[in-house]
Amino acid sequence: MIRTPEALLQALGLPEQLLPAARQGHQLFPVRVTQAFLNRIRPGDLNDPLLRQVLPLTNETEPSPPGFCKDPLAEEHAIASPGLLHKYTSRVLTVSTSACAIHCRYCFRRHFPYAEQRQSQDDFAQKLDYIRQNPAVNEVILSGGDPLMLPDAQLRRQMEALATLPQIRTVRIHTRLPVVLPERITDALLDALECFPRQRVLVIHCNHPQELDADVVKALARLRPLTTLLNQTVLLRGVNDTAETLIQLSQTLFECDVLPYYLHQMDPVEATHHFAIADARAVEIHRELTRSLPGYLVPRLVREEAGAPSKTLLISS
Ligand SMILES: *Cc1c(COP(=O)(O)O)cnc(C)c1O
Ligand code: SF4
Repeated sequence: MIRTPEALLQALGLPEQLLPAARQGHQLFPVRVTQAFLNRIRPGDLNDPLLRQVLPLTNETEPSPPGFCKDPLAEEHAIASPGLLHKYTSRVLTVSTSACAIHCRYCFRRHFPYAEQRQSQDDFAQKLDYIRQNPAVNEVILSGGDPLMLPDAQLRRQMEALATLPQIRTVRIHTRLPVVLPERITDALLDALECFPRQRVLVIHCNHPQELDADVVKALARLRPLTTLLNQTVLLRGVNDTAETLIQLSQTLFECDVLPYYLHQMDPVEATHHFAIADARAVEIHRELTRSLPGYLVPRLVREEAGAPSKTLLISS
């Protein structure tokens, strides 16, 4: 794994002039890239869409435009119990780890107060109590960080515990690991997932077709018999802001039996404004997807709004 800006630039033969800015960004949110992801980046190409997601550039330390802040979603207000977010009636989201295998520069949780949440990491029992007291909850989303960073034994215990709650019909896992660390999809992990016997959904996070190499295809094939596979993408300037790229992404994912779920307009989080795309342009790209793809391969274009009862569609039909 790459953990420093120096190592990243060196591995890809990129110029040293990029180092001061990269170091500054690294201070805000450390550089972290898996070998598997690094292998898919074209050496020497500063415009590589995968590199753009992991290399801090000067823009991160520029002052953010108005409207950008540390917690635009007011997530701190949605904390129902330590490590548990309850924003939408029927589903809760659990944060059991702050760890990720890769650090995405646009991450909306880069400023999340994980440290304050950490003391209760193993306290799954308290989350279960909250769920029992809220019978409208029928789905539990494991998120983070990346929930598949948890050890298999801990995941297994969580799956078993959730299985004991009859109100929970679905366990959903939001993870980037099948894409950025495909070797994580082991037999032991699959066994752990099976400990929840009802509906299982796994939402991967893939932004560009170049992220899908043969190892990812194999990892997805192993997950497919156990879970419904969906993908969410964040619309990012300089990474995937053309209809052509997103059409290719939907088509390639479909070949792996993954259906597109959401195309997110980025949250206005401090230090990420250089990735932002105007709504008008996002809608234009989405119209092109709708024209070119069958309906089932068109992701819903959404943004998250503090206090809204669900994600907000940018196009309502
Ligand atoms: C996005 C999100 C969900 C899930 O929303 P869906 O529309 O069901 O995918 C649940 N809880 C929180 C806090 C979220 O941010
Ligand atoms: S994998 Fe997800 S949570 Fe982790 S850094 Fe990337 S966007 Fe953020």
